[in-house]
Amino acid sequence: MSNDMTLKSIEINGFKSFGKKSELIFNSAITSIVGPNGSGKSNVAEAFRFVLGEQSMKSMRSKRGEDLIWGGSPQLVRGNRAGVKVVFDNTRRLIDLDFTEVVIERIVYRDGQNEYLLNGSVVRLKDVIRLLAGANIGGSGYQIISQGEADRILNASPRERREMVEDALGLKLYQHKKLESERKLEETKQNVDKTKSLRRELAPHINFLRLQVEKIEKARELRDELSVRLNDYLAREHAYITQEDARLAQEEAHVKSQVAHTDTQIQTLTQNVTGIQEPHHQDQLQAFERDVQTARADVARLERELGRAEGALQVTRVTVEQSVGAPVVRTFAREVDSTIEEAERSNTIEEVRTVLGRARNHISHFLSGLSGAAPETSHESQQQVDALLHSLSGAQERERIAHEALEMERSRHVTIRESVNESERARITLESELRTLRGSLASIVQARVYMATLRSRFEDEVREGIALIGANIHAWDQIEIPDGALSEDRTVQDKRRRDMERLKIKIEEAGIGNSDEIIREFKQTKERDEFLARELIDLESSIESLLKIIADLEATIDEKFTEGLTHINTALHMFFTQLFSGGSASMTIEKPRRRHVERDLDADEVDTDTDSVEEEEVQPGLAISVSLPRKKVSGLEILSGGERALTSIALIFAMSQVNPPPFIILDETDAALDEANSKRYADMIRELGKRSQLIVITHNRATMAAANELYGVTMSQDGVSKLLSVKLEEATKVAK
Ligand code: ATP
Repeated sequence: MSNDMTLKSIEINGFKSFGKKSELIFNSAITSIVGPNGSGKSNVAEAFRFVLGEQSMKSMRSKRGEDLIWGGSPQLVRGNRAGVKVVFDNTRRLIDLDFTEVVIERIVYRDGQNEYLLNGSVVRLKDVIRLLAGANIGGSGYQIISQGEADRILNASPRERREMVEDALGLKLYQHKKLESERKLEETKQNVDKTKSLRRELAPHINFLRLQVEKIEKARELRDELSVRLNDYLAREHAYITQEDARLAQEEAHVKSQVAHTDTQIQTLTQNVTGIQEPHHQDQLQAFERDVQTARADVARLERELGRAEGALQVTRVTVEQSVGAPVVRTFAREVDSTIEEAERSNTIEEVRTVLGRARNHISHFLSGLSGAAPETSHESQQQVDALLHSLSGAQERERIAHEALEMERSRHVTIRESVNESERARITLESELRTLRGSLASIVQARVYMATLRSRFEDEVREGIALIGANIHAWDQIEIPDGALSEDRTVQDKRRRDMERLKIKIEEAGIGNSDEIIREFKQTKERDEFLARELIDLESSIESLLKIIADLEATIDEKFTEGLTHINTALHMFFTQLFSGGSASMTIEKPRRRHVERDLDADEVDTDTDSVEEEEVQPGLAISVSLPRKKVSGLEILSGGERALTSIALIFAMSQVNPPPFIILDETDAALDEANSKRYADMIRELGKRSQLIVITHNRATMAAANELYGVTMSQDGVSKLLSVKLEEATKVAK
């Protein structure tokens, strides 16, 4: 067994005519499969296609997956699944898996369901294809050449041909990568557009939010300013109120105590005055006056009596007085009457007695006068006068004493009144003082009421401040009041308040609700925009790198293609001349053409409503030129069926030489060859077998002879294909 052997075996079970499990083991570089028509040889080739992931039913001569499953015969019921398992030797790690043997299996069920297994594990089709492509197995159109398809490459369009060659050269991976990059590029471009339009959409929103945020910031600045001012103001106000209140309280207490003191003073004075004043003073004074009058009346009466007595004395001396005249009696009567009157006015019995005593004296005097009325002598009269003189002086003494007493009483009274007056004056002064004090007390109380108003306004201001600047408001109680601040004019503080009011209005005007939310939204939107901007840069740079990758890939493909084509042409020439004993054949890259899209609308343009006359670059395909020996004409068209077959073989072989696949399956590729050409074909098979493992299905003896190993396919009555190893001699028989 050759070291280069890759294909170890294939097991076909329930696939097409292989109703029972059959296995083909490949021990040599060239294996030939022989058998009569319709025995199932092509089914083997198709089993390979199938297991390698072929998706075209047509290329397996079927319509549906179900057609691939053993359909049954009178002897053997139909199957439910068709399975093909291929075993690769992987000691050289041709397949990129860390296994010495790689088993790929594909099963199709009647419902059309497919299953792929890689070393027994279920995998996806694309994993199988990728893995095999890496080992240059599958995909290409020339690795398995189906019956009658040998000249497929000849019949293909230049463009298809180019693709086949690219496949053969192993450029499919690059093409795939290129397509992938182009897809990514398209996607990236779309993303760029999307990102740009997102940013365009964001822009006005961001601008709007920015303006809002600017306003908010302005309002915050104002609020900060207000915070400073307000705290300063509050600190001052609080200090002022506290100080003023304390001062007023002290003053109030002081004035109150003064009021109380003055009150007491006034009371004391009042008491004093009442103490001094005598309620019966007038009565007393009248009593004194009456004493004086009484004394005076006595004096007057005695003087009159004395007058009369002196007159009588004179008469007795000069004339004789005969009788007591009527006027004397009347005078006496009046005097008695006046004495009685006095007695009536007397208050006490004592006084009445005194007055009555005097009345008796009076009467006795009158009587003695009467007796004198008949004076006996002037001596008697003299005695009377003397007695009267004596009485008079007594009466005069009493009058003087009474008068003195009266004067004393009067002067005592004047002293008392003066003292009362003085007290009154003092009281008036005190009362006026009291009024003043009460007045100032009232204004102190009023001032304190005002302070209370200030305090309540202060509290309101604190509350309002909290609403405006939040917790910052509490800073005021930590602020130190500058020296002399309390003695400043209140108008300064009033101005501060007015300034703040103006500030508050400004803040209110700038007022934006939910500022935190707006700021957050601005931040988020800006971040999103910045993110998009960064993404745009990333996308643009990935566009650049994708373009570079695509360009690089194109360059690589181009380079490899040109290089590979040269090699293929060399091999083609060799095989062609070998087959035709001369002549020449080559593949050439067509000249790049440009076509008008407009003209070609019916073909592959979807966008039919465009009037575009744009030109589209048509990827150049591959043209084949052949010239046969001894013939003047050249070109594919003039070739005979056999010549076409030979050319195809030359082409297939040439292509497989450049990048030899691990194995090639040729299904009756030699069918059209005559004996001489069959021999040449067999030689070429041997040549090819040095580079790739070959499985050749043939009816041709020369080809069979080129194989190291032969398998015969037979189909008995039950319609089931069977495989058996045969010798060359048997094979030739079997094949017939
Ligand atoms: P030739 O030498 O004429 O090309 P061949 O050996 O290549 O013949 P195949 O084409 O491989 O023969 O086999 C065709 C046979 O397989 C037919 O007899 C066909 O009835 C049979 N066959 C195809 N599909 C099924 C199926 N699903 N179930 C049973 N038999 C099938």
